[in-house]
Amino acid sequence: MTPPPAAGAPRTAVPARFKAACPDCRTRCELPAASLRLVIGASARTTFYAFTCPRCAGAVRKPAGRRIVELLTGGGVRTLRLHTGQNAQLRPVPGPR
Ligand SMILES: [Zn+2]
Repeated sequence: MTPPPAAGAPRTAVPARFKAACPDCRTRCELPAASLRLVIGASARTTFYAFTCPRCAGAVRKPAGRRIVELLTGGGVRTLRLHTGQNAQLRPVPGPR
């Protein structure tokens, strides 16, 4: 009797990467989740994701639809939820470990 071989490579914490395009220099790049930031506001207008272009170092901000939000949050992107109550607070949401 031989033990069964390990089935493939273990899928441990493969860092998610997201494709993004810079509107300034038109660079298309792949960014790790750590380079992106997602801001979820009270409405779609204030929901966006942001990153720094690796080529021109420009701050890029793009609107994030519901699908993108799901994608980014699922990929471990740091998320800020903007609560527009009496006390607007920035509340960092702890990401997955
Ligand atoms: Zn750029």
